[in-house]
Amino acid sequence: MSSLIHDLAAICGPEYVSDKLVDRICHTRDCGPNPGGVPAVIARPRTTDQVREIVRLANRERTPIFVWGRSSTFIGHGIREGCILLGLDLMNAVEKMDFDNQTITVQTGAIWHAVDVELGKRGWELHVPGSGGMFVCTVGGSVAYNSTPHGLAEYGMTGDGVVALEVVLPNGEVIYTGTAANRAAADLGFERYANGPDMAGLFIGSCGVFGIITKVTYRIRQKPEAERFAFFGFDSVDAAVDAAQALQRRQVPTHLVQVFGGQRPIGVAGEAFLHVVIRDGRAAADERLAAARSICSAFNGIPLDEKATERYWVHHMYSWLRNTPPEVYYSDRPYTCPEASAFVPTQRVKDAIRYLLNYEKEHAAEFAQHGIRIKAYDVYYSRNAAFMWIDTLFPELDPAAWQYGLKMRADYSEHIWGAYGSPGGILAPLAPHIMPKLGAGYDLMKAIKRTLDPNGILNPGILGMKLEAGQ
Ligand SMILES: Cc1cc2nc3c(=O)[nH]c(=O)nc-3n(C[C@H](O)[C@H](O)[C@H](O)COP(=O)(O)OP(=O)(O)OC[C@H]3O[C@@H](n4cnc5c(N)ncnc54)[C@H](O)[C@@H]3O)c2cc1C
Repeated sequence: MSSLIHDLAAICGPEYVSDKLVDRICHTRDCGPNPGGVPAVIARPRTTDQVREIVRLANRERTPIFVWGRSSTFIGHGIREGCILLGLDLMNAVEKMDFDNQTITVQTGAIWHAVDVELGKRGWELHVPGSGGMFVCTVGGSVAYNSTPHGLAEYGMTGDGVVALEVVLPNGEVIYTGTAANRAAADLGFERYANGPDMAGLFIGSCGVFGIITKVTYRIRQKPEAERFAFFGFDSVDAAVDAAQALQRRQVPTHLVQVFGGQRPIGVAGEAFLHVVIRDGRAAADERLAAARSICSAFNGIPLDEKATERYWVHHMYSWLRNTPPEVYYSDRPYTCPEASAFVPTQRVKDAIRYLLNYEKEHAAEFAQHGIRIKAYDVYYSRNAAFMWIDTLFPELDPAAWQYGLKMRADYSEHIWGAYGSPGGILAPLAPHIMPKLGAGYDLMKAIKRTLDPNGILNPGILGMKLEAGQ
């Protein structure tokens, strides 16, 4: 046994450390198309103190750590060959449900949906419904990535629900954010904006480059009395976008999702579609539903069967209209998703869609040659803008198709991010290309990283900068 593994076993217990090849190979990549390095060892701590000890050991040994929630992102992690893979799955306790302060405190590796189910038994729910990966993803990973829930409008991004964090810094120190930072009143994780600048914000969306989130205190709410659904088809993408903007302005939807493109079920009228989900007290929900119907009609929306929206929202159907079987898209699996996504201003959704449809037309021969499939283009509308999700699938076991898929992702990204958008998170493989567009903001991130992590120990592959040994 090497001394690294011996030391990790002393910290976590030998049963929670593995250097078996099969375990290491299973921890090399996320759901996206980019391969990663094979870690030297998997360590599964159960407490914050064990995480601290591992971080200190990594600094002493100058061995990088990669933080693994459930690796359900598509961002191309940048796992380093020979790193310590820090698996957080055993840190999954719900520590406190605080209905007075409307918060829940969980260890970082708790699965999003499992926490929501526990709250649901008591008539409560997490502040956001979770991303499409909620059945597997962890609370800590979702906060660290700041994932985009399906349908954003009223509840916002994952990070919007954070009240307080416990974080192990790259030097092994532990900090608390918000009201929880006052350790004289250690139980008081009830307000994020306390004691000066928003320290939680530094870690939300940072993909673990600044610290390891070990506990999250998150906002919860009582489940609303009523849910209402509306589903509209539009003759043109532009009309659907205009209707979406009118809905945003009146703050009608709780969630608002547009789908277009892909293979659609026969007999459904329209070119682009809006799913509207409204959650509120009964009377208010009915009023908002009436407003949604009148706004969509004003833009010549065609009312469609709202059961499709209900299936999408309540039963989490994950396909074009959330009511078609997955075989239509995947059949001879495995197919992979290049995961190009971006925030764009609402009106620019029209330009992005035009670009994507033209791309499909201009590259029809290559799409056919490589077996590229378009599942759908989704737009999750936030309160004032839009988040686009480009589900163009390619068969990942075919090397030529895989290369083509990566090129496609680079083309989409270059166009949308170069002209009017911003990526949803940090994508390691595209970071060297995208992050410099942030100018002095990126310089600041690098400076913070160097200050907090001079040895380049924590998730060094992600920010697109050289970090090892203080470079
Ligand atoms: C079917 C499906 C649908 C999906 N739909 C969506 C969607 O709608 N919107 C969306 O945004 N994403 C979506 N995803 C991607 C993914 O599920 C989410 O982004 C999820 O929140 C990631 O959680 P995770 O625990 O798997 O994090 P991971 O993938 O393990 O980690 C994400 C990043 O954060 C770091 N990290 C993990 N845990 C911590 C921690 N405790 N402290 C510090 N850093 C940490 C990791 O090193 C990595 O860089 C989907 C995935 C699937 C499989």
